[in-house]
Amino acid sequence: MKNLAYLKKFYKKKLMDAGIIDYDQETISLLSYSLKKSNIEIITENNFLVSENHLIQIDKFISKRIKGIPLAYITNERVFFNEKFYVNENVLIPRFETEELVKKFIDFYKDSKIKGKRLLDIGTGSGVIPIILEKKIPYLEFYALDKSSKAIEVAKKNIFIHKSKITLINDEIKNSKLDSIDFVLSNPPYIKSANLSNLPIDVKNEPSLALDGGTNGIEVIKEIFEWESEINKNNASYILIEIDSQIYEETKILTNKYYPNKKKTFIKDLNSNIRFVSIT
Ligand code: GLN
Repeated sequence: MKNLAYLKKFYKKKLMDAGIIDYDQETISLLSYSLKKSNIEIITENNFLVSENHLIQIDKFISKRIKGIPLAYITNERVFFNEKFYVNENVLIPRFETEELVKKFIDFYKDSKIKGKRLLDIGTGSGVIPIILEKKIPYLEFYALDKSSKAIEVAKKNIFIHKSKITLINDEIKNSKLDSIDFVLSNPPYIKSANLSNLPIDVKNEPSLALDGGTNGIEVIKEIFEWESEINKNNASYILIEIDSQIYEETKILTNKYYPNKKKTFIKDLNSNIRFVSIT
């Protein structure tokens, strides 16, 4: 049997040697998950003895992590907007930047005189965006769409955990007949196909369906605009989409084409990178 002081040191070094940037925090999280103890207990308890069976399990998690499986897929958990969500390898791991998207919508809604009701999240993945928004603005009607049936299963689980009333739809936006939508949000796949192979190994282990934006990175964004003009009849008074600087030019051309008379705003994230486009 080994004690926690020894194990913390041992696994931190292993993760550090494997080039894992947050090796300290991730070691604590993996030990806490395996031993069913809180992070604080793992940090403060040094003499606690860990059984052989637990060691075998921890070793398994550590080697998965070293192979590039993201921590959130090992623990099946991710905190988003201070709430816990279930995640697995079928959904993108919610990012901090996407929390900003949620905040932007809340700010917009608070300040605006527009009184729409129906909100659609396109490519909902784990469902984090509408689930958090429903907690903040409960009187809106929420719809969440994803083309991946496996992602829909994850979203369903989170909807259950958070006692949410969102309507889930398993479809591609280009086939969707949803209309009368007032607010459109999306964190679509927006990486250019050619750049997928350059991503860090952790990201490569996330579903390519959630990342691959096609040749120009804007394939799904284009489908969103097409649906919005043809099926939704340009009813949306506010559209907010997550992007990055790699597709800035392409997105600018696209928004000018589909929304020549609307106000298009490119918004930077907290790291000063172009991250969102809003259309209103
Ligand atoms: N909407 C989800 C998120 O923001 C998933 C996005 C995606 O799969 N591209 O995390």
